[in-house]
Amino acid sequence: MLKTENPCQKTKKHVLKKPEASVIILSTLIFFMEATVETDVLIIGGGATGTGIARDLALRGITSLLVEKGDINAGASGGNHGLLHSGARYVANDGESARECMEEGKILRQTAPHCIDDCGGMFAAVQGDDENYVGEFQGFCARSGISATPISIETAMEAEPLLSKKLIAAFGVRDGAIDPFMLSLENIAHAKALGSKLLCHTEVVAFEKDNHCITRVWLENIHTHQRFSVDPRQVINAAGAWSGKVDALAGAATEIIYSMGTLLVTQSRMTEGVINRLRPPSNADILVPGGTVSILGTTSIRVNDPDRIRPTVAETDLIVSQGAQMIPTLETTRYIRAYSGVRPLVSQGKGDDRSVSRSFVLLDHQETGLDNFATITGGKLTTFRLMAEKTADLVAARLGNTTPCKTRTEPLPSTQEGKWTEPGIAPRVWMQKPAGKKDRILCECEMIAESTVDALADALEKNGQAPDLLNIGKRSRLGKGPCQGAFCSTRVLAHMYNNGRLSGPDGANELKAFLSERWKGQKPIFWGDQLVQAELTEAMHCGLFDLELTTPDPDKPEPKKVSDSLAKTTRQSERRN
Ligand SMILES: Cc1cc2nc3c(=O)[nH]c(=O)nc-3n(C[C@H](O)[C@H](O)[C@H](O)COP(=O)(O)OP(=O)(O)OC[C@H]3O[C@@H](n4cnc5c(N)ncnc54)[C@H](O)[C@@H]3O)c2cc1C
Repeated sequence: MLKTENPCQKTKKHVLKKPEASVIILSTLIFFMEATVETDVLIIGGGATGTGIARDLALRGITSLLVEKGDINAGASGGNHGLLHSGARYVANDGESARECMEEGKILRQTAPHCIDDCGGMFAAVQGDDENYVGEFQGFCARSGISATPISIETAMEAEPLLSKKLIAAFGVRDGAIDPFMLSLENIAHAKALGSKLLCHTEVVAFEKDNHCITRVWLENIHTHQRFSVDPRQVINAAGAWSGKVDALAGAATEIIYSMGTLLVTQSRMTEGVINRLRPPSNADILVPGGTVSILGTTSIRVNDPDRIRPTVAETDLIVSQGAQMIPTLETTRYIRAYSGVRPLVSQGKGDDRSVSRSFVLLDHQETGLDNFATITGGKLTTFRLMAEKTADLVAARLGNTTPCKTRTEPLPSTQEGKWTEPGIAPRVWMQKPAGKKDRILCECEMIAESTVDALADALEKNGQAPDLLNIGKRSRLGKGPCQGAFCSTRVLAHMYNNGRLSGPDGANELKAFLSERWKGQKPIFWGDQLVQAELTEAMHCGLFDLELTTPDPDKPEPKKVSDSLAKTTRQSERRN
């Protein structure tokens, strides 16, 4: 039974106002065909935290509606390193984050092993690094209860042969790699299976308040600009770097610092485990395996707007030169892509951005006069479950629900929705096909076959989402190999036309959107082989297919032509060669 003492809880049903016209994309349309939707909680933001909260609440018997202005993991959850932190990175100056990471790592290994590559990690110092820090490191770890085992130089080099010959110290730690896309897709899939709802491409644009409560939330479909509203009992702001903006819409002031970080993806996997530079956190000091590739980064640059970020050439140069001090081949290896994400750091008014705690902040707005509103921000991917638990505890208590959190022990189910993000799964499945069965490979870099594309398209359609290239790419490895979509994009489109999922000119727009996204990530790493690849992509798609690729440039009102970008970045490649 739900208590109704709080004036914010006077209604039990949460009525969604119907949109005026029926031109909203399929998912929204199907959703709104239902006259009323039973939901207790509106969650804003479809990253690891928002999807984690949806699952946590659903396991307590509380259904929710999650709205996301982009697609799942459009924010930092899709733009991070994928490191399941042992906590050792934070031992010197952020013991709380260190302990949280260690404890959550243990829980996630038990409950979501399919999302984790339990590859282990090493902290490595090279000549010139601060030997005092090296000497104190094990003591710092012990203080936070984190295990760090000294490794001889010989054993370290044997385990990771690409390490620098200037290695002076190494410690083994319990780091791992986690697939953030699989994690969020599985969390929301489980929440939906338990009765919750998801609306992507739907942005919260305004709140209506009455008597210390949010009574109505206005949503806008970002494609059609249709507005509609929902009357929730409880509202959770899990909008990550955008949480300050969302709070401001509700009249609550939260000062967020935006710290952008950039990461580079190598063509192949460079190390068995995670390699951390043994020094206080700095630029480009972590290399994380991402299945068949490695991810090198990151940086920490203050930006003014989380919507206006992109990797820069200067960051790329910094990351490569710093990373190469630890692993010299990082200077010459082929990079296939760069990407950036924004960390929301809750302002404490002093120190540089790396000194701000990476722990999370849960704001109970009841304390400042909004009884049915809470904001959860900051933290780490590694601690998303704990963030979700604390938020769900608060909101469940407000709703009079006393069921305890179950995500500490309840396994996260593996579903069709998250399965295809795993590197290497598509070729494995393809190899197992019955002898004689035709199943053409559409993406040669990642070995994605027709049957995989069909399975992904079916799952998207079942969820009311368009089976387009971007949606398929987000849920698989499509376009993530060295060709960055040059060949697979057209093959997948042709397959979609052949089996009747596409008709008319829509394919050209899909191609543009997909390749533009890939292009954005390649621009800062145009040198050597990847520049040659990019020129081939341009020749094929602009020259042969006459498809004018454009890249949205946040600093310029007019989009630039690909050929302009190429001319500019060729100079960068000349410098590097
Ligand atoms: C460069 C970088 C590297 C990192 N590396 C690691 C790592 O290796 N390990 C680790 O543990 N952590 C790492 N992190 C931290 C981790 O990525 C974040 O803590 C985590 O992903 C935050 O998830 P979130 O769901 O809170 O926020 P987000 O993932 O940012 O989700 C917020 C969502 O809200 C949506 N949204 C915003 N406004 C609205 C609105 N008005 N209406 C509807 N939706 C809205 C956004 O589109 C976004 O999808 C890294 C972060 C960065 C930036």
